[in-house]
Amino acid sequence: MGKPTGFKEIERKVPADRDPLLRILDWNEFHNHMPVEELQGQGARCMDCGVPFCHTGELMSNMASGCPINNLIPEWNDLVYRGHWREALDRLHMTNNFPEFTGRVCPAPCEGSCCLGVIEPAVTIKSIECAIVDRGFEEGWIVPRPPKVRTGKTVAVIGSGPAGLSCAAQLNKVGHLVTVYERDDRIGGLLMYGIPNMKLDKKQVVDRRVKLLEQEGISFVVNAEIGKDIPADQLRADFDAVVLCTGATRPRDLPIPGRELNGIHYAMDFLRPNTRSLLDSNLEDGNYISAKDRNVVVIGGGDTGTDCLGTSLRHGCRGIVNFEIVERPSAERRDDNPWPEWPRIFRVDYGHEEAAAKFGQDPREFCAQTIEFIGDGDGNVRALKACQVDWHQVTEGGPPFAPIPGSEKEYPADLVLLAMGFLGPESGPGEQLGIEIREGRGGMSWFTAEHERYTTNVDGVFAAGDCRRGQSLVVWAINEGRGAAREADRWLRGASDLP
Ligand SMILES: Cc1cc2nc3c(=O)[nH]c(=O)nc-3n(C[C@H](O)[C@H](O)[C@H](O)COP(=O)(O)OP(=O)(O)OC[C@H]3O[C@@H](n4cnc5c(N)ncnc54)[C@H](O)[C@@H]3O)c2cc1C
Ligand code: SF4
Repeated sequence: MGKPTGFKEIERKVPADRDPLLRILDWNEFHNHMPVEELQGQGARCMDCGVPFCHTGELMSNMASGCPINNLIPEWNDLVYRGHWREALDRLHMTNNFPEFTGRVCPAPCEGSCCLGVIEPAVTIKSIECAIVDRGFEEGWIVPRPPKVRTGKTVAVIGSGPAGLSCAAQLNKVGHLVTVYERDDRIGGLLMYGIPNMKLDKKQVVDRRVKLLEQEGISFVVNAEIGKDIPADQLRADFDAVVLCTGATRPRDLPIPGRELNGIHYAMDFLRPNTRSLLDSNLEDGNYISAKDRNVVVIGGGDTGTDCLGTSLRHGCRGIVNFEIVERPSAERRDDNPWPEWPRIFRVDYGHEEAAAKFGQDPREFCAQTIEFIGDGDGNVRALKACQVDWHQVTEGGPPFAPIPGSEKEYPADLVLLAMGFLGPESGPGEQLGIEIREGRGGMSWFTAEHERYTTNVDGVFAAGDCRRGQSLVVWAINEGRGAAREADRWLRGASDLP
């Protein structure tokens, strides 16, 4: 433990983000770092408590409580406080292949279960994680470390999101020859084409890590859709093991009157081409859906909804509203959501902050249900009709809420973005390999493989990440990719030293 009285003397501080009105004028990352001395002070607030819940990663009330990859948080907090940055980096890399991703995009369930959080604001864990790894890159401490010996075994990983990348990194570390197949034209999955550049820089952060993995010996094949360009059973024949990390890419639709109108798009059809065009031509090729001068309604919250807000604002939208079907969360934890559970409280994410700065109010409308899209007579959406719902009444045979009579309202909308979550993986490669599917409600389905085992019904084929657990978080994808690598290694060699 760094400083026994640290938490009594020093208040929690997080780095100030860039000014919202300035940052919406560009696509650069909006996070800043704190000066080193301040970060060390924040590290000193960690009490190194006897039972540090911050690194447990347990599921409580269906949400992660603590870090899902069991980062050794109290240890690196102490090392940062003492100025031992290199050792802190080594500790961090023991559990996390990509701290520069989680340090930027993780919602930090660790902070929600920090013991200090019982009586005081939690330790600033995520910002310290990001600062450790960024410093590691600046100092040149992070270099390719190819394995000294190769096992002669080969593994194909399908999908290059955080699950596929962490799985490949771990398997390569123990000497297997890994090839990652990606159907898109760039590596990274949602790290590349989901999360926008202002939250996670593609060239400086994502590509930098991919280049390191390449230098360590991993082969990447882009523009290769398994199940279409290359049959999945061919991979099964050509490689000793196959790991499916194809993500949960089927979006949830909103089949209400007017859905066929022009101007209504899935969030990913808006976000993906935007980043691609940004990287290809700084948005000069025009190969993206523009929100410029349009009234935008984003249906659905979460990270995807927030990213649609941030992207629309950077295009220069005329106005923006964000519908959330849920009730507005309370400012503080409620009695039925005690520590160390993930706090279900009202949060202001970057897109909300930017919309409020630009238009004078938070863009969110809670308990809002869209009933109908209204056209302009030429086949384009011009407005939508929504009502308020009451979560204390249940619709018979339907959802756990009921529309409030007379609450209907029309909203101008010439661009509607559907960000209502994802239903599971596409069937392609799984079907060709004969993978069993687990069915859920409302059309949801996932590849069947037990958590911590990742083994499918087909010998030598594993599944990890969003395609197995459903839409989740980068940190869970890393957890699953690492776990699937361990199990594949065990299957290939009879035993594994991987964590
Ligand atoms: C817009 C958006 C923003 C998000 N923001 C955050 C955030 O801020 N923080 C956070 O923690 N989480 C966030 N998430 C969730 C997070 O990105 C995912 O949980 C995570 O990326 C899942 O990792 P994965 O590797 O399982 O799948 P993915 O990242 O989805 O990667 C799957 C890859 O497989 C490829 N693929 C699919 N089928 C094939 C095939 N047949 N052949 C070859 N390749 C194939 C896909 O092209 C894709 O590249 C966000 C999600 C979205 C959609
Ligand atoms: S990965 Fe996420 S949960 Fe784990 S220490 Fe980092 S911010 Fe916290």
